[in-house]
Amino acid sequence: MRLANLNGRATLVTDEGLIDVEKASNGRFTSNTDVLVAQLEELASWVSETSAQVTDSMAPAVLARDPGLGPVISHPGQVFAIGLNYRTHALEMGLANPTKPMVFTKFSSSVAGANATFVIPSPMTDWESELVVVIGKRGRNVNVDEALGYVAGYCVGQDLSDRALQMLGTPAQFSLGKSYENFAPIGPWLTTTDEITDPNALEITCSVNGVLFQDSNTSDMVFSVRELVSYVSSVCEIRPGDIMFTGSPHGVGQGQDPPVFLKPGDVIETAIEGLGSLRNVGRAR
Ligand code: ZN
Repeated sequence: MRLANLNGRATLVTDEGLIDVEKASNGRFTSNTDVLVAQLEELASWVSETSAQVTDSMAPAVLARDPGLGPVISHPGQVFAIGLNYRTHALEMGLANPTKPMVFTKFSSSVAGANATFVIPSPMTDWESELVVVIGKRGRNVNVDEALGYVAGYCVGQDLSDRALQMLGTPAQFSLGKSYENFAPIGPWLTTTDEITDPNALEITCSVNGVLFQDSNTSDMVFSVRELVSYVSSVCEIRPGDIMFTGSPHGVGQGQDPPVFLKPGDVIETAIEGLGSLRNVGRAR
C-alpha cells in the first residue's frame, strides 16, 4: 500500500486513483495518518476484503507534485537521524566510518511535505538524500532479525543542513543545524514494507537544478536499516509514528571540489527506487 496525507486526510494511492480512507471505510479508520500508521495491518485486511471505491481519479505522478501533499507523519514523537552511514559519504567528508551508529535528531518542527519550500539560512546550506523509515509498532531491545517487523514503511527524505551551524563549536551542533523551517521534507507518501522486499537494495538519487549530484544505492549503508532500528531501540523505546533518517550517500554539496551550496530558487529533486520523489525549492529567509 501507499499511504499519503492529502490536505490533512489519510489517502490510499492506487494506480486507478485515490481512496479517502475515512470516507471509504465509513469512519472505521481515521483520516489522521499519524494515528493510522499503527493500524496498517487492519487497513490492509480491509482493503483486500472490500472493493473500496476510488474517490478521486488523480494519478500517482500528479499527486506527487500536488501542493496539498503533507508529510505522512506530521508530528513524529521522535525523529532519529543517522550521520555518516554511507561508506562513500564518510570518505568525501574526510571522516572515518563510524564503529557504532551516530545518532542525532532533526527537531520535529522541521518536518514538511514532498513539495515544501525551505529556507536558506546561510551560504552553507546543503542537501542530503535519505531513505526515511517510519516505525509502526512499539518496541524496546528489538533483535536485528525482527527489526523490520517494527517498520510500517518507507518514504523519501531530504536532510537539509546548514553546515555553518552544524559544525559550529566543539562538539558540533548537528541537530540544531538540521532543523530550520522545512529542513526535513518526507514523502511523497509512505510505501508499506510488503512492497519493499529489501530496504538496503534501492537506488537513491539527488539532483539540484537538474544536475545529478547523488547517485547511489542504499546497499552502501554502513549499518543496515534493520541494524539501525535494533540499535536505536536498545536505548529509546521506538513508537508508531517515529521516523528515522538513515543517512546520506556521497555527492553532497560540501563534498564537491570546490563545495557547492544552495541559494534561493534552487530546485532539489530527491528520488528513491520504488518510493517516489520529492521536489523542494529554496527561498530566502
Ligand atoms: Zn543526513
